[in-house]
Amino acid sequence: MSQEKPDLRLVDFVPTSQLIVPEHLVEKPRYPVIDAHNHLWTRDGRDLAEYARELLEIMDLAGVKMIVDLTNAWGDELQAHLDAYQNPYPDRFSVFACVDWGRLQTEPDFGQWAARSLADSVGRGARGLKIFKNFGLTVRDASGVLVPVDDTRLAPLWDKAGELGVPVLIHVADPVAFFEPLDRFNERYEELQRHPDWHFYGPQFPSFREILDRFAVLVERHANTTFIGAHVGCYPENLAFVSDMLDRCPNFHVDISARIAELGRQPYSARRFFLKYPDRILFGTDARPTVAEYRIHYRFLETADEYFAYDPHEPPGQGRWRIYGIDLPDDVLRRVYHDNAARLILHDQTGLARQGA
Ligand SMILES: [Zn+2]
Repeated sequence: MSQEKPDLRLVDFVPTSQLIVPEHLVEKPRYPVIDAHNHLWTRDGRDLAEYARELLEIMDLAGVKMIVDLTNAWGDELQAHLDAYQNPYPDRFSVFACVDWGRLQTEPDFGQWAARSLADSVGRGARGLKIFKNFGLTVRDASGVLVPVDDTRLAPLWDKAGELGVPVLIHVADPVAFFEPLDRFNERYEELQRHPDWHFYGPQFPSFREILDRFAVLVERHANTTFIGAHVGCYPENLAFVSDMLDRCPNFHVDISARIAELGRQPYSARRFFLKYPDRILFGTDARPTVAEYRIHYRFLETADEYFAYDPHEPPGQGRWRIYGIDLPDDVLRRVYHDNAARLILHDQTGLARQGA
């Protein structure tokens, strides 16, 4: 007797894996971790200093030595982050500054102005510059024209970062699927349903590839400036592209924040990538710090576990797939977890190896 086809909706579908394979839950990382990509702003005007104390407890439990707080701030707001995090706990927090794109409307020489703004932030103690994804996507100049990522008017800003010896942690574009039509072929369909403001498809936006190509030009042009490309160089779907940038630009590095879902669904390519560029990859999460969130990252990097959740939520945030661990060797883990960030952000050239770890 034939059964009627059930009309199950995608949102109601929660398939449960029956796979029985070894599981290795990693409670503490093999080396002290620097989370090089996070944002420690608070909601509802919560006191930053109080949050800092709460974070230190989580960090101790999770084996996190330092969190880098990428602010969207300059001036007084930047100072508040410095005073709550980095100044009282210089070994546990680093604060990065941003620039005020709104000044493009009023400053005739925005590049020079932004360079001075960065110098002010670094003078206050900021250890780097953060560029958010609105740059190259929605930021416009005084005449209403979109400012492309490789706009030469901004050269003074990038050169100033190089001169001051602070890295530029930069996020351009977003997942490739965010630039595609929102139809049944879009692999981020559910995520874009939840966040329609993350959908950048249409004539008002540049294409994904145009943004990335200009990004590559920018990094290559400013060879004396250290760039850290957020989210696996902003193109984790195409590690060959990122590898090409790393090969051409010794000043280019990447963080892995918010992209273990992408890396963990291509475990062979991802492992080769880490083994080829052990000095160029920084650990980061871009997730509200919790012990559970950190432990998933450790499991991905340290074990060869198969087909596990990259996200504590169900269905998972970025797409309906599971990930595979990449079982990195100790000397690669040490650099990714700690030494690369220590070198680029804290100018610590020795790393853990020579400290006996
Ligand atoms: Zn972020």
